[in-house]
Amino acid sequence: MLYKLKELENDARSTIEGAKDLEELKSIKVQYLGKKGELTGILRSLGSVPAEERPVIGQKANALRQELERAVELKEKSLKDLQRQDIWEEERIDVTLPGRPAAIGQRHPLTMIIDEIKDIFTGLGFQLAYGPDIETDYYNFEALNIPADHPARDMQDSFYITEQYLLRTHTSPVQIRSMEKQAPKLPVRIICLGKVYRRDDDATHSPMFHQCEGLVVDRDITFADLKGTLDLFAREMFGPDQRVRFRPSFFPFTEPSAEVDISCIMCGGKGCRTCSYTGWLEILGSGMVHPRVLEIAGYNPGEVTGFAFGMGIERIAMLKYGIGDLRLFFSNDLRFLKQFS
Ligand SMILES: [Zn+2]
Repeated sequence: MLYKLKELENDARSTIEGAKDLEELKSIKVQYLGKKGELTGILRSLGSVPAEERPVIGQKANALRQELERAVELKEKSLKDLQRQDIWEEERIDVTLPGRPAAIGQRHPLTMIIDEIKDIFTGLGFQLAYGPDIETDYYNFEALNIPADHPARDMQDSFYITEQYLLRTHTSPVQIRSMEKQAPKLPVRIICLGKVYRRDDDATHSPMFHQCEGLVVDRDITFADLKGTLDLFAREMFGPDQRVRFRPSFFPFTEPSAEVDISCIMCGGKGCRTCSYTGWLEILGSGMVHPRVLEIAGYNPGEVTGFAFGMGIERIAMLKYGIGDLRLFFSNDLRFLKQFS
């Protein structure tokens, strides 16, 4: 029996020492010291030991029990210390390391153009105006002299929400809203920049794009004022050598109307692929505000005149930065966007 105890002691000590974690140690404790453990078994079987040996063996077994319990405790403590050490190593902060630089964003190329346009026109005394993206049929078409059966509606295939509400196809409704708000006070001198929507999607068209709309209404406003304003805009935006060309055109809400070209920024007007060898690039539409539109908005076309113009902001950005595909603006590709920092 004594030999058996000695053997159990050696066994238990090396097993406890070898425990790799608290979980294992717990099951080792049960194996030797638990209710059905090996040492407990020996103590239970004392009855079969001859009476004279019983006290000695009992004493030894109890002493061993205490020693093993003590060994388990010590091991538990050292395992816990080790665990704490690991956590500390993992979470330790080295204050001497250089900090991680914060990523600084930048303006989107379209935002850069929008800001530039704002600067140019507010510098000329224009005020910023805004209108809703969801427009009524009335403001988007009707009030702009585009009645329901007008063929101009075909050019602007729209996203309708209901029969009366649609996503605005141009920023021109803001002209009407602005005039209505201040009529008959003069002058009206606004610039509106915002999103517009049409059912187009290819390399040069997107279902959502941005427009800039300008409107001036006052006494004695002439076509010369329109020419002077856009001439100055072209030179501010594309460089001091820019020339501007007006071509007769048609818009339902202006009369007379003109498309405006700038001399090709790629070839300077000599002719190249970008300008289809014409030397000119179309950038916007413009004209004198149609008397009917002035009347609808609350002004007397016998007393006041005005001019208006509208341009696609993506188009301006593509020309200014030499971008071939409009979809690049909306694909969120950092390789593209980072070129504008
Ligand atoms: Zn050219």
